[in-house]
Amino acid sequence: MSIEGGCQCGAIRYRIEGEFMGSGACHCRSCQYSTGGGPNYVGLAPRDGFTVTRGEPKRYVRPGGSGADVARAFCGDCGTPLWSEGRLPFYPVKVGSLDDPSILEPAIHLWTSEAQPWHRIEPGRPAFPENPPLP
Ligand SMILES: [Zn+2]
Ligand SMILES: [Zn+2]
Repeated sequence: MSIEGGCQCGAIRYRIEGEFMGSGACHCRSCQYSTGGGPNYVGLAPRDGFTVTRGEPKRYVRPGGSGADVARAFCGDCGTPLWSEGRLPFYPVKVGSLDDPSILEPAIHLWTSEAQPWHRIEPGRPAFPENPPLP
């Protein structure tokens, strides 16, 4: 399976080969900054199947929930948040940057301890106060 995506202005493009390793909606405060307030919908792209095919994103680095540095890649021209890079074997890719965001529905909710009271957490979906066990 090959899935493509990129930023709104087209300066950055990427391709994912292989299956997503999971999906989720992250409610952490840091994700709220990168989405504008809502939860962050991500698909977990296998690192070895992820290729940047056009341009070079900017990266904002700060410690994530585990204390290790996480780089948030975004387009320096249009500002679209794209994916994150940490020490895990996958990159959480923002679903909104996929060419077809409808292909991926978040399976779990995470970091609900930092969710805003008005964030919607779908009933029946697994929800974790912080990071879930790794897929
Ligand atoms: Zn752009
Ligand atoms: Zn988050």
